[in-house]
Amino acid sequence: MYEENFTSERLTQAEYSEDDTGIELSLRPRSLAEYIGQDKAKSNLKVYIDAARARGEMLDHVLLYGPPGLGKTTLSTIVANEMGVNIRVTSGPAIERPGDLVSLLSNLQENDVLFIDEIHRMSRTVEEVLYPAMEDFEIDIIIGKGPSARSLRMQLPKFTLIGATTRAGQLSTPLRDRFGVLLKLEMYTPEELCIIVKRSAQILDLPIDEEGAREIASRSRGTPRIANRILKRVRDFAQVKGDGRIDRKIADYALNALEIDQLGLDNTDRRMLSIMIKQFDGGPVGLETLAATLGEESITIEDVYEPYLMQIGFLHRTPRGRCATPAAYRHLGLEARGNGGEQVSMLDN
Ligand code: ADP
Repeated sequence: MYEENFTSERLTQAEYSEDDTGIELSLRPRSLAEYIGQDKAKSNLKVYIDAARARGEMLDHVLLYGPPGLGKTTLSTIVANEMGVNIRVTSGPAIERPGDLVSLLSNLQENDVLFIDEIHRMSRTVEEVLYPAMEDFEIDIIIGKGPSARSLRMQLPKFTLIGATTRAGQLSTPLRDRFGVLLKLEMYTPEELCIIVKRSAQILDLPIDEEGAREIASRSRGTPRIANRILKRVRDFAQVKGDGRIDRKIADYALNALEIDQLGLDNTDRRMLSIMIKQFDGGPVGLETLAATLGEESITIEDVYEPYLMQIGFLHRTPRGRCATPAAYRHLGLEARGNGGEQVSMLDN
């Protein structure tokens, strides 16, 4: 049985952390050909890019959605590269006032890409500036204050907005409707992640064998950001505890030391499942209750922990709350009692 205390740092957190900066820049693929997996999104995008280029126009606005760390930012920079245009990167929470967005938009050049990460976190007043900008490439700016204030319509260069979000459902309908292309990014298969790990190892000049790469891939919860981060840590173990080479044995040793189990679950995942099972009889347990018991934000549970636990069939979202499945009981070495885990009426995710 697993320890319930949360001790290990969250290596398996798919969200971006400061620590990733250097490594992510060097490992980020720069062309569609280098971008592994996501075949459906990639082949659709390729058609739209080729068509837009042939017409000499900008690409239609694109909304990318899916859990963190799957390659939304990477794909956006690739789109700009393939289109041969500049990209400006910002995020919903960083655009505090309508004026911030106006200045970003008015500094774009013809056909440029504006990438807004976490677009669902943009305020409503900022969002309203975006509507005419996306639709007609125009914005209204207010000049002056009080009774003498007047509104002036300003023409913008044609641009492509690429919005990224972990939750398309939270976007307002008017905003969602203004995207011509909606692409969902899926979690990666262990085989795809294995290719990504080998590619990253090559860039970092790390000797790694097939089995070592596979071990890291299968314990990276379907997420390239986590795979790259784990690779970096395994490299340290290989240097200190081995001869610098990464094989299955040293990868397994390092991952065990980092308390990441065979399925890529860390202490927080196990603690969450264990609370659901022991304190709530396997569920259903409401999201808010679970968040309060775990001491986590409910949004973190929904965006970071749950997608993978659902993907591997350990958790269901039901109309009455979250349920641990018999597979989760088995993984934790606990015996399944008649619990709600069998109920599989899923809510949208
Ligand atoms: P997101 O914006 O969805 O949070 P990022 O685009 O920042 O994710 O991707 C995180 C890291 O994962 C990137 O720096 C890159 O190294 C790696 N990565 C993501 N997608 C791929 C891919 N398809 N092929 C190779 N590496 C990838």
